[in-house]
Amino acid sequence: MIEEKGILFILSGPSGVGKGTVRKSLFEHSTDLRYSISMTTRGAREGETDGVDYFFKSREEFERLIAEGKLLEHAEYVGNYYGTPRDYVEETLEQGKDVFLEIEVQGALQVKENFPQGVFIFLIPPSLEDLKDRIVSRGTETEEKVKNRLHQARTEIEMMDAYDYVVVNDEVDHAVKKVQSIVMSEHCKRERV
Ligand code: 5GP
Repeated sequence: MIEEKGILFILSGPSGVGKGTVRKSLFEHSTDLRYSISMTTRGAREGETDGVDYFFKSREEFERLIAEGKLLEHAEYVGNYYGTPRDYVEETLEQGKDVFLEIEVQGALQVKENFPQGVFIFLIPPSLEDLKDRIVSRGTETEEKVKNRLHQARTEIEMMDAYDYVVVNDEVDHAVKKVQSIVMSEHCKRERV
């Protein structure tokens, strides 16, 4: 079996859909995927560790990384920068290992421009009503913000056609199984003797 470079998988989808939960659960099951730890300027939340959950950076440091071309993509989300380290992704793929990104929609579209051979997975809620319930149940948003997020989610869902796969997040375990199947299928597509 000859497989040369690794495959880049990108999990994205509207805010509040549960990308982080699906990604964490995927990595709790054994997986050969390498998770690319993102850079961010947001502060660490309780229980988060620098270099594990994110690489936490100042705005100044982040802007320097952008200027030096060190990020494969970056986006500003709710007032903070988020970005994917280019070297880690490129070097890991070069070593023949798969890389997994979990990023918001603007960033995923940038990756698509630079890495069209990536496998783009769009996670969607079973319905917009369900997404609203999830955002409201976080309890951190004012009514106005919930409205804005839903508006943004509708716009983001329109980007669905740019993706290779759509996964409905009805239940986390179910969504994880679908992502695992996508990974397997993509390997079968590329397998050659
Ligand atoms: P949180 O602050 O809740 O950890 O993440 C907020 C959003 O940023 C989530 O939608 C998450 O998928 C996205 N995100 C995390 N890392 C990156 C990244 O490197 N690039 C982009 N564009 N989005 C990211």
